[in-house]
Amino acid sequence: MKDYTILLIEDEKNIADFIEKILRSNDYKVVTASTGGEGLSLIKSRCPDIILLDLGLPDMDGLDVISSVRSWSLCPIIVLSARTTDNDKVSSLDLGADDYITKPFSTNELLARIRTSLRHSNRVVTNDSISEKPYAALGLKIDFMKIITRDGEPIHLTPVEYKIVAYIAKNSGKVITYSSILKNVWGPNMDENDNKILRVNMANIRRKIEPNPAEPTYILTELGVGYRMLEDSSL
Ligand code: CA
Repeated sequence: MKDYTILLIEDEKNIADFIEKILRSNDYKVVTASTGGEGLSLIKSRCPDIILLDLGLPDMDGLDVISSVRSWSLCPIIVLSARTTDNDKVSSLDLGADDYITKPFSTNELLARIRTSLRHSNRVVTNDSISEKPYAALGLKIDFMKIITRDGEPIHLTPVEYKIVAYIAKNSGKVITYSSILKNVWGPNMDENDNKILRVNMANIRRKIEPNPAEPTYILTELGVGYRMLEDSSL
């Protein structure tokens, strides 16, 4: 198995020490930085496999770190957000962060987010046709030839509903923002103000695919941010 190097950019020493310990005990190599500037230079010198980024840094805004990294690197970025405003989460994702995790978080949550991001980044590097491999989790199957079944029974979605489900299923395990779904399904002129059309379609999708639409299992709501599809268990 490959040794993954994780760069942790976090200025609060007790939090940084805690995360570093968790990561090391799970066989990740860890490089730490306590400022944005130090983090940026370590990304260039150490080429980490993944970046964990605190948004509130002493020398620069974490959002500026994201835009800077994205101008020359596709390295996955998971934002460690203490800020509770959804705006920062959405801005992070729109600037190119792969995911976020809200403090305080559990060890399992952190490790799961890291695994998901690594899996997505490896997939991009190794084989992009792999996204045509069917999605499967908890009895739900989506093959990307427009056939969706639950426990073997076909589910009939409209073309738009199918486009929404296929898009988030291909990114399963990751949060996908409302605006990203709107732009992907309806076109580049859509933005968060057009959320209503997405909400209506999502209600219909849930009615069709969820055993209990009021408590979704497959497509989870990330309040104020977007949706996260249950991670594909066949990967
Ligand atoms: Ca901080």
